[in-house]
Amino acid sequence: LNVPLDYESLNELGAIMGSGGLIVVDEDTCMVDMARYFLDFVQDESCGKCSPCRIGTKRMLEIITRICEGKGEEADIDKLINLGNMIKDTALCGLGQTAPNPVLSTIRHFREEYEAHIRHKRCPAGVCPGLVRAPCQNACPAGVDVPGYISLIGEGRFKEAVILHRENNPFPGICSRVCPHVCETKCRRQTIDQPTGIRQIKRFMADQDKTLSLPEIKINLENKKKKIAIIGAGPAGLSCGYFLARLGYAPTIYEAAHRPGGMLLQGIPDYRLPRQVLNKEIGILKKLGVKIKTNVRLGEDITVRELRKTGAQIVFLGLGAHRGSGLNIPGEDKKGVVQAVDFLRDHNLGRKVKAGRKVVVIGGGNAAVDAARTAVRLGAEEVTILYRRTQAEMPAYKEEVEEAQKEGINIKHLVSPVEITGDSKVEEIKCGQMALGDFDKSGRRRPISIPAKTFLLETDMVIPAVGQSADLTGMINNLDIKIDQRGFIEADPVTGQTSVPWIFSGGDIVSGPATVVEAVAGGERAAVGIDKLLSNKDNAFWRKYKEIDTAFNPDEDPVDYSRVKSKTLPLSCRKGNFKEIELCLSEKSARKEAKRCLRCEYKKIAPQ
Ligand code: FAD
Repeated sequence: LNVPLDYESLNELGAIMGSGGLIVVDEDTCMVDMARYFLDFVQDESCGKCSPCRIGTKRMLEIITRICEGKGEEADIDKLINLGNMIKDTALCGLGQTAPNPVLSTIRHFREEYEAHIRHKRCPAGVCPGLVRAPCQNACPAGVDVPGYISLIGEGRFKEAVILHRENNPFPGICSRVCPHVCETKCRRQTIDQPTGIRQIKRFMADQDKTLSLPEIKINLENKKKKIAIIGAGPAGLSCGYFLARLGYAPTIYEAAHRPGGMLLQGIPDYRLPRQVLNKEIGILKKLGVKIKTNVRLGEDITVRELRKTGAQIVFLGLGAHRGSGLNIPGEDKKGVVQAVDFLRDHNLGRKVKAGRKVVVIGGGNAAVDAARTAVRLGAEEVTILYRRTQAEMPAYKEEVEEAQKEGINIKHLVSPVEITGDSKVEEIKCGQMALGDFDKSGRRRPISIPAKTFLLETDMVIPAVGQSADLTGMINNLDIKIDQRGFIEADPVTGQTSVPWIFSGGDIVSGPATVVEAVAGGERAAVGIDKLLSNKDNAFWRKYKEIDTAFNPDEDPVDYSRVKSKTLPLSCRKGNFKEIELCLSEKSARKEAKRCLRCEYKKIAPQ
């Protein structure tokens, strides 16, 4: 358990459970539902003689049950705290005095879970039946109807499937290649064998969609007249534009680079995300009438104030997190040290980039692995990744790490850079050996250096990939936009509205470096928030559940075959090029795999 749950809180929970009570808490435990369970239990145990316990705990149970059913209201958390404290202070026996503790403790330590239930109508653990249709859909930040499109693919109805996906996420082709696929992590099929291959099935579906099938669009001539400016054509800005266009708006996107795509273009290499796939899906925006103006940099070519003066009612900032974080070690300013995001951006935007002969990449995330594999393709003879924890803790996708190793990249674990040396240019990197200590806030074990255990590596290029930060220099001058302690924009988590009411924001510039699907979700939330501000109504029609008429017999046993394996490009075909590595499933395999879905959205097999 890697959360700051102190002994006192555990005792509070344990006291209610009685001696010997064992509480197992992990990411699949809903703390709101757990508190509801304890309150429910108290109802049978209470003698009912004093009103704080008899009436107060019942009232608390009503509120918390409502929250678990997705009917919670903003004021409910405060009501629970006030009632809980009142019962603690006035109940006459130990049972009443401790009954509110599980609620108060879980609010204290897991308030964001209560907020997710109330504000986002989401149970992050996927437990509360009123909020969870299927665990895969619940896990998807964009809320895509996964069982819906998977079952349509199973029936060969590919166009309907892709349209259903685009209800909540315009980019199935992109996400099927780069998404962390948390939907699969939560797939209930893994209780039988392995999770359904959702990402691979989606890839097949998206690759069939030659004509860019579109979901419902509302024409609204009033909305069309309202000027909305979006800055940044990454997934957040594009998604914001897409959902606004579906409500009848005609926003304009301003992008600093000469091509749209954000990190999809500037960061992720083509061997993972081919540019024709990216360009095709960005084409949806053009189809919907969204203008994308490239080579326009906020802070240089335009300012937010100018946009406002020339009639923009709303400005959305989707600027991403493009500044690579420093290593904070001596020598990192030497020639030959290039940030991973700069190295990848230069290559991906078509500038001439030369990789060193002996390249050392520092970091363990996708950017580190992408930089290392790009360096190999650009002709580096030897590429080494230094990572300060073990392979199991690397945040990069497991399959990417394995492919990198197959391509000859050497990953040194439990190693951290100490100093970069060389006369005018990088020549060597001094490395320190690490060990894993206690768990830190991220839930991973903290790397600690082992004194005096160092070694030298010869190198002519060092690529740090240890994090990214926001660069807002010159962009929001004279605007009262609140920035958080890490330097990212503060925006309302439900509407994307910033402290300046007509400026909205989303994606990495708000969350810090995250994922494509989270940026898509951030763009959608802001589009809904913008529309609500302008129209005073909730018009997000795509959020309403649509019945899918695919056949399913809940009495039939699940199919008994295991997950299909996708094929990858042979190593011999990868040298010196950026051809896509993962190959697409055949129609037969995709439909067969789709049939492995358990259809958890049907109540019969949904959790009780
Ligand atoms: P961005 O994609 O960064 O887009 C911001 C856009 O704003 C850019 O186009 C930028 O040029 C533009 N912009 C910035 N400043 C200005 C300005 N002043 N004026 C005008 N325009 C401006 N996520 C995954 O889900 N899967 C992956 O496999 C994955 N791999 C990654 C690999 C790398 C190397 C990197 C760096 C990131 C990766 N990510 C991955 C993260 C993902 O790409 C981001 O979370 C996502 O792109 C964020 O979207 P965004 O729209 O918020 O910002």
